[in-house]
Amino acid sequence: MRRPPVGLLVAAGLAVAALVVLLLGRALLPSDAGYAVWGTTRSGAPLRWDPCEPVRFAINPQQAPPGAVADLRTALALLADGSGLDLVLVGSTAERPAVDRPLTRMTPTGPVWREVLVAWSTPAATALPLTPLDRGVAVPVAVRDGDREALVTGQVVLNADRTDLVPGFADRRDAWGATLVHELGHVLGLAHVDDPTQLMAADPGAGPIRLGAGDRAGLAAIGRPAGCLDGPDPAAERSGRTLRTPALPLAGTSED
Ligand SMILES: [Zn+2]
Repeated sequence: MRRPPVGLLVAAGLAVAALVVLLLGRALLPSDAGYAVWGTTRSGAPLRWDPCEPVRFAINPQQAPPGAVADLRTALALLADGSGLDLVLVGSTAERPAVDRPLTRMTPTGPVWREVLVAWSTPAATALPLTPLDRGVAVPVAVRDGDREALVTGQVVLNADRTDLVPGFADRRDAWGATLVHELGHVLGLAHVDDPTQLMAADPGAGPIRLGAGDRAGLAAIGRPAGCLDGPDPAAERSGRTLRTPALPLAGTSED
């Protein structure tokens, strides 16, 4: 039996190809192109969303700073411009971040992957690995079903205790806008780089909030220019075959 690239268990004896959740906790080394991707498929391509389907987001405004919805829309527009992805804020939700968040939800026409949840929480109130110094943590989730591999959902949890941060996009040093772009960049498939001029730098640094050349190259590599994907079918996940990994992928934006 071929061993999966990350630790997980697949129930034996099931008729259909096992669907597995990949662990994306290890960033690849930054490339010369000025970006890094969070994971690769078995064929070595960057793990990414299907760029020919909308990527849907929902925001929980509980504990969010003023202007959070507007800032999220601005952040999504910036990333959509860089990636060519259709990034859609579908609305608000009362859902709270959770370690064991289901991957799909039912609709009248069948199961769909859950929206990416964007929510604020104090570190003490969440079991997700959000530390007091983090501005936020991103939890992208990829699924493999046979030869189909893609990012399908995720969570972004922002630190409600970071009252030193301010709404808007004035400066990377202290703007929630920069943190949103950075964490959403993780959800879309990008990892950290060392170059402090890129928004995907681990340290927020200071300066204008705009995509750097490396950020743009990375977004192109995981975005629409990379072509459509035949992504995993959410109906497969409903069969109960999915077994989650015990640890969740994460990447926080650390204290500056
Ligand atoms: Zn980060």
